[in-house]
Amino acid sequence: MELTPNQQAISLTALMFVRGSASFESSLHDEEMAALELLKQAKAVVPGVVNSRDAVCAFCGMYRGPIFRSDEGLMVQCPDCGPFALDPASQRSWRLDDEWLIRKLRGALDISPHATTTQIVDGVWDIGRYKKRPVVLARRIDLVERHGLRIFHGPEPRSQSWVITPRPLVRVPLEPLAGTAEWWQLEDRFALHGLALRLLDPDQGEKADVPQDGIPSVAVHGPFSEDFAWVHLDDWPHGPIRLTEAQAKLFAALWKHRHLAQPAEFLMREAGLGSERPIDVFKLKTSNRGDPRYEGPLHAYEELVVRQRRQGLYRLTPL
Ligand SMILES: [Zn+2]
Repeated sequence: MELTPNQQAISLTALMFVRGSASFESSLHDEEMAALELLKQAKAVVPGVVNSRDAVCAFCGMYRGPIFRSDEGLMVQCPDCGPFALDPASQRSWRLDDEWLIRKLRGALDISPHATTTQIVDGVWDIGRYKKRPVVLARRIDLVERHGLRIFHGPEPRSQSWVITPRPLVRVPLEPLAGTAEWWQLEDRFALHGLALRLLDPDQGEKADVPQDGIPSVAVHGPFSEDFAWVHLDDWPHGPIRLTEAQAKLFAALWKHRHLAQPAEFLMREAGLGSERPIDVFKLKTSNRGDPRYEGPLHAYEELVVRQRRQGLYRLTPL
């Protein structure tokens, strides 16, 4: 379940590559912050443009308010929470340097630095040849599917390419490029070693020691996996839902006491969590709205947890 710092770093690389735009430091989790430090050392990220007009509210995290100067320095005016002093750190953002990723992938694949890289369409590059076959890098697999004609059968045909993309956020057909190209998921096929990327050999069993992060296990306790890290819900279109450690602990506690509703503080203590109410570990940051990886756990919470309002007791819906 736990990823090593290098695995966190390649995961964050993939996430930032998918986004393309800058990510605010304040929107990153603790593990992602550690990964960001690695990426800074590797010079993989460049500072985003500092926004001096508005900032997200440090209290509610819901609204952006205008930044203004007062006697006490720079302030932010949240429409809901009122004014507060701006923390300059909250304005720091970083963007993955696409050129860095291309350079490191070429290094990992032993592609000559003299070979040219060409952008085929926005977000899709031809970065050279590996084992005499073209290597195509794309921000997302759906870009490759959408522009397949242009990529593989354009003026320069690229049949039997290697296609590298980050692992998709939503479920896609098992072999979307079957017959046309071989698809490699960035996080699975490459590892960060010091300042370089290295190609993992799938035949060497190098993945054996990687936690089964991307592989949802089957439902064992009701809809939950053995370790409560995954929830299987039929009405969720994006496949099994991955929970954070805190969410998994909370669901484990709710499962243990599924026959009798319990007060919030009892459940939170059982789960070993510091927050006050169960919903606290499911709250979405503004930047994660609409992302099924974050919306999924909240959906599971809404679907599976009943709150008996009058007594403030919680339990799982009868399963
Ligand atoms: Zn606010």
